[in-house]
Amino acid sequence: MGGRKRKKVVRRMRKSIPKIFACPNCGEKTLGISINRDEGKATIKCGRCNIEDYVQVSRIEEGVDAYGKFVDKYYGSEKTVTENEEGRKPS
Ligand SMILES: [Zn+2]
Repeated sequence: MGGRKRKKVVRRMRKSIPKIFACPNCGEKTLGISINRDEGKATIKCGRCNIEDYVQVSRIEEGVDAYGKFVDKYYGSEKTVTENEEGRKPS
């Protein structure tokens, strides 16, 4: 019995410093992007105009990639600003 091999999950921890980008909506550098690796999703939020969105990201993509997608999405599709979902905080 025994000898059960535990697969060691090596997780490369990148510095998860919040990245700040220029917001396409208000033009200020107040756009924060946080990536949720588990969900493969990046949450984008501007601290100034409160625009909020999220995009899909793959494992290797980072904040800057998410930002690119967000900007594409922002300009690519006419976005109707819906009500903010309050009380939903990424942890
Ligand atoms: Zn903004």
